Amino acid sequence: MNKKRTKIADISRGREDQLLEIPPGELSALPCPYEKGEGSAPVPAIPEQHKEKYDFSLDGVSALGLPKNPSPEEQDRLVEGFLSGLRKLLSKDDNWTFWQQLVLSLEACTHCQTCNDACPIYTASGKQEIYRPTYRAEVLRSIVNRYLKKSGRAFPKLMGCDIELNWTTVARLAELSFRCTMCRRCASWCPMGSDNGLITHELRKLFSQEMGIAAKELHAQGSVRQLEVGASTGLRPKAFKGIVEFMEEEIEAKTGRATKLPVDREGADILFLHNSGEFLSWLENPIAFAIILEAAGKSWTLSSELAGYEATNYGVWYDDVQFARVALKQIEVARKLGVKKIVVGECGHAHKALTVIADRILTGENNFPRESFLPLLEDLVCNEKIKLDPGKNDFPVVLHDPCNMVRLMGIVEPQRRIIRKICPKFREMEPHGVDNYCCGGGSGFAIMQSLNFPEWKSSVSGRMKMKQILDSFQDVIRPEINKYVCAPCSNCKGQIRDILAVHHAWEKCRIFYGGLAELVVNAMVDMKEPFITWEWR
Ligand code: SF4
Ligand code: SF4
Repeated sequence: MNKKRTKIADISRGREDQLLEIPPGELSALPCPYEKGEGSAPVPAIPEQHKEKYDFSLDGVSALGLPKNPSPEEQDRLVEGFLSGLRKLLSKDDNWTFWQQLVLSLEACTHCQTCNDACPIYTASGKQEIYRPTYRAEVLRSIVNRYLKKSGRAFPKLMGCDIELNWTTVARLAELSFRCTMCRRCASWCPMGSDNGLITHELRKLFSQEMGIAAKELHAQGSVRQLEVGASTGLRPKAFKGIVEFMEEEIEAKTGRATKLPVDREGADILFLHNSGEFLSWLENPIAFAIILEAAGKSWTLSSELAGYEATNYGVWYDDVQFARVALKQIEVARKLGVKKIVVGECGHAHKALTVIADRILTGENNFPRESFLPLLEDLVCNEKIKLDPGKNDFPVVLHDPCNMVRLMGIVEPQRRIIRKICPKFREMEPHGVDNYCCGGGSGFAIMQSLNFPEWKSSVSGRMKMKQILDSFQDVIRPEINKYVCAPCSNCKGQIRDILAVHHAWEKCRIFYGGLAELVVNAMVDMKEPFITWEWR
């Protein structure tokens, strides 16, 4: 179907056709050395073996693995479930967490479409209509008007809401709620304060809490697994302790100092909470923090308790109930250890989840002090409490701004003050700070691997970030020069790794990626060898 003719009511129609097929030539262009399209990930093809089993009717992509043809009874049940959930979303008592923001966002929109060009997915896709930030909201508004208001039921055409609520609508809308990274760049452009990222969140919540539809990587393999075994990665406490022992060996090898890392140390000042993905994929980040905290003589500890070594809270992306369960568990661990505060490491959504959103449920004795790692790291670096030689970071560095930390929480300058102090060849992406583009892996996309969704993430949702990275290194793009994308967020780091990998950017341009703590340790004067090893992983 041609994008220019996609209407709101089309979402209910033509189940056998895809609502959108993205022509590869319409994806936004990338700069040198990809100006002719070399190395670019293709628009995903539907895997032949899955065509008959799963629903690809939105845009030929499946993030949720919804069944193609549920029985008529099941379809009726799901449509009823959707309506029931929608009533709850719009009820102040049932949706005390976000009712006000949802209703204001739905009602305040004047349809000016100012927000469209702010959206990296809409822009990168070649402005496909269904990826427009307000398309989801307009579908939702039409369903509300048609099915929950008397005037809409009596005169749907007259009221501009002749949308049909059927399984096709529900399935496509569920998938569409996973074509937005909830980066809220559109919200910061909106003159009315409408927040389409929040509308995405509320839709996902409806699907999860009322209908049991959620991305398995966020739910069954995410927050459920975290509460059952200790971490969403499946890392169990015993294995975690084994990793800490390995970290001690690595630290001794790198610093020459035998180090016993604090685990479950009662009464420490700081409980340091990492995204558990760091322990499995980027151990250099927790090692770097351990080296810094030990060098600065800080009173700190890690925890080996269930959920005590996992900062993530995937509930923040899809389900308020799961969110509350995880946040309460993390606080319980800190209280039991008797630490003074929790410090959240390089994980953007954990920042927002535990330090901002959790304020709504962590009241009374659960209102435990929580903060970002950035004030601590800034104090150590900028007040010269550890000895640093910026000359050791003699390579171009660009900073990625994780949406959750920067646009959503307003933490913009501390990371820059640190980098300016230790990286003489630091440059900014354009745009940056609160205007920065999402990495394309936000809201759980970075860990979602269902069917052909990873290809979509690389070719569409991560495209603007890839462009920004390449743009920022154009003067040094040749492969003789090592370059570093600093992504101080575990999920962003995973997404940036993936987009660099599908474009072979390490081989073609020597663009590498990593965290912020690694740059600090790389600059420490008493490190005998460079901490950053420039080996692709
Ligand atoms: S959400 Fe805001 S910017 Fe977007 S169309 Fe509505 S009023 Fe305009
Ligand atoms: S929240 Fe981000 S991804 Fe979602 S519609 Fe807005 S700009 Fe696009």
